[in-house]
Amino acid sequence: MIFEEIVKRGHEQVSYFHDPTLGLRGIVAIHNTVLGPALGGCRMWNYSSERDALVDVLRLSKGMTYKAAIAGLNLGGGKAVIIGDPKSDKSEELFRSFGRFIEGLGGRYITAEDVGTSIKDMDHVRMETKYVTGISKTFGGSGDPSLLTAYGVYLGIKASVKFKLKKDSLDGLSISVQGLGSVGMELVKYLSRDGMKIYACDIDEDRVSYAANEYGVNSIEPDTIYDQDIDVYAPCALGATINDETIPRLKCSIVAGAANNVLKDPKKHSEDLRKRQILYAPDYTINAGGLINVYNELEGYNRDRAFAQAEAIYDILMDIYYKSDKHNIATNVASDRKAEERINKIASLKSFYLPERRKIILKGR
Ligand code: NAD
Repeated sequence: MIFEEIVKRGHEQVSYFHDPTLGLRGIVAIHNTVLGPALGGCRMWNYSSERDALVDVLRLSKGMTYKAAIAGLNLGGGKAVIIGDPKSDKSEELFRSFGRFIEGLGGRYITAEDVGTSIKDMDHVRMETKYVTGISKTFGGSGDPSLLTAYGVYLGIKASVKFKLKKDSLDGLSISVQGLGSVGMELVKYLSRDGMKIYACDIDEDRVSYAANEYGVNSIEPDTIYDQDIDVYAPCALGATINDETIPRLKCSIVAGAANNVLKDPKKHSEDLRKRQILYAPDYTINAGGLINVYNELEGYNRDRAFAQAEAIYDILMDIYYKSDKHNIATNVASDRKAEERINKIASLKSFYLPERRKIILKGR
């Protein structure tokens, strides 16, 4: 059944790994390496079955291919999963063993932190391989990616407002932000500076109080967020918040936020939003700042360069919106097509023989 799953999603390679001494079990999925080495985080999760772990790593790695392609990065899409409980099963030796396995893939896959793994874990991986990002700043790491993700989302909101509401400024417009975590809190900082009227919620009341005091955010109850009469809804907490139940409640013109997998059913719910004339900023496009951040580690991290690169998110979204209008298609479809177009065009370059292809330099590793 594994080949069936791989073929269905177009993966190049799926590798299972096992360290019998440590009980390490995991999977690396490399979806597509036309643009460069497959980069994607390593998720550690107590999967209830091997099948769940496989489906998750296949789904997430394919998503990384599109995210890297749309952001204009020379990266392919990949992901790793380790089957285990991140609260009890982590150790230096486990991540070093994982690192040795990654080294064995010879640079076709570069790992990073993800749900259930941390910078410290990646530092352990780094002891065994240079094919790792999201490491400590002292080792050349880029630090918290949320800052660049938030900046990219802020620019994405500006692009969406420009396209949908024909306004260059956010001043006086209203937004509801769901989740004041690492990204959401940084985002409201930018939005408050631009004079937006911000409504926000979080299940952690301390975070809401902090945002109210620091950025003048108006607190709302988490379950009322879909009923707010505002210009922009910014999901920055959970996935699948755009669904059959919430869409009829929305009173916004734009959905643009950091959360992954915003649409519960991408095909159906992007069309439902379109019918209601709500502009949707495709999730993997508007939240690509985090990937841009770790990508910059590969060539020696430079904060200014990373922020400058994230500015492209504004123009990329504008192009997607124009194409969606021109071809009468949903914005997520326009985004997928743009990403696939780039991969196909770059793939055709490889028909022209060169003795040595340009490779990403892993500086100082
Ligand atoms: P985070 O865990 O720091 O913050 C999430 C916040 O949402 C927390 O404060 C949590 O209390 C709150 N929350 C949880 N359930 C909620 C609910 N029902 N209603 C309101 N608030 C709720 O996560 P983050 O790093 O800020 O990421 C936010 C989202 O953006 C996630 O979906 C993540 O996958 C996505 N994303 C993050 C990055 C990044 O660089 N951090 C990059 C790409 C995508």
